Amino acid sequence: MNSSFKKCPVCGKPRSEEHAPFCGVRCKDRDLVRWLDDGYAIPGPAALSEHEGDEDEANA
Ligand SMILES: [Zn+2]
Repeated sequence: MNSSFKKCPVCGKPRSEEHAPFCGVRCKDRDLVRWLDDGYAIPGPAALSEHEGDEDEANA
């Protein structure tokens, strides 16, 4: 186990101390965009199924 040597989670290259835990600002941006994309993709379908569940409970 080399805890002193960490890799960039986005591309696997050696990370940069300046942009840890990423290798550079490009991967830092890429990771942030990925999280934002996930956040925007969830609310639509999740809110819909929640509504359907509520109606089911009201009927039963
Ligand atoms: Zn990287």
